Amino acid sequence: MERDFCCLTDTEDLRSFITHSERTKTLFEEIRASINNNAEGERWFWRPVLPWGGVFPIRAGRKAIASTPLYVQISLKNTCTIDGFLMLLYVILRDNRSFPRELAPFLGKRFVEHFLFLMDSCDYTTVKMLWIWDRMSKRQYRAEVNHAALEIDLFGNEHENFTKNLEDLMSSAQESWCSNGSCPTRFQEDQRKTISVNPPHELPDKDPIQSALDEFFCPRLEPCEESECDGLREFSLRLFCHGPPAFVILDMQMWRSEDLPYVPFHLELSEQRYSLEGATLFNRDEHHYSAAFQIDGFWMHYDGLRSDNLVLLNKPPEFLLVSSLVYIRTTDR
Ligand SMILES: [Zn+2]
Repeated sequence: MERDFCCLTDTEDLRSFITHSERTKTLFEEIRASINNNAEGERWFWRPVLPWGGVFPIRAGRKAIASTPLYVQISLKNTCTIDGFLMLLYVILRDNRSFPRELAPFLGKRFVEHFLFLMDSCDYTTVKMLWIWDRMSKRQYRAEVNHAALEIDLFGNEHENFTKNLEDLMSSAQESWCSNGSCPTRFQEDQRKTISVNPPHELPDKDPIQSALDEFFCPRLEPCEESECDGLREFSLRLFCHGPPAFVILDMQMWRSEDLPYVPFHLELSEQRYSLEGATLFNRDEHHYSAAFQIDGFWMHYDGLRSDNLVLLNKPPEFLLVSSLVYIRTTDR
């Protein structure tokens, strides 16, 4: 009896300690501490972070009763198309003090604050609902009522579900002029919302990703493509419409593993220096996305489907099936 009592006290002490540490430390600080206090050789974070799927109960109230058809909960399926990026977004925002303020004009101040609060509160299903309701459009997912639940299925492509919903964060423009005075489209402006990096036709001398970025950003001279125009078209330096963003996402879906002998840790784009912070990875057989990121030089692999879903890696992950690379700006604006 006495023993049972002691055990109960221990458990309660533990619980109160956990609750206390939740209040004083952000989730990011907890993950960072677990990496740095890795003395016992623990290879994974001690509790699940952002598990796959999720059930969001609708609190009974006037709104729930009035909605037709009636449902009492929302169940989420195939959330890996947003999970990996939400994890990366959280790490990037918590690891770089000025970034939440920088991102506010694009995603909204309330969104950024709410997002960080929910992640730190480990309210993972609500984080996903915030992204779905606040950032995604209804045509980007399937929703149907099944029994008393609204099922939201996010099966698809993570760039459609995440990268395309970052507003004008990565918007850039490049101007060009044709040397032929009678060219019908003498002046042109090419605006893009994402950063396009196409694999090179042949392996270049320097790093293939930097080469592809140079092709997208750097000034160049090309024969004009206007029919029956024999002019030369001069392209200006491509500039970010709202200044160099805090982070960039490079869509690597078109790259085969042989196009990508290695992944560079640093990149120059639009006269700014960026460094590798993470990546999302794709498993083609299971049509499943996961993510890798680094904190203080230690690499972690996040996979929402695993029970220990945050695992410390010995070395940077082998980027065999890279879906995207995420770089953060390391120079001041
Ligand atoms: Zn022309």
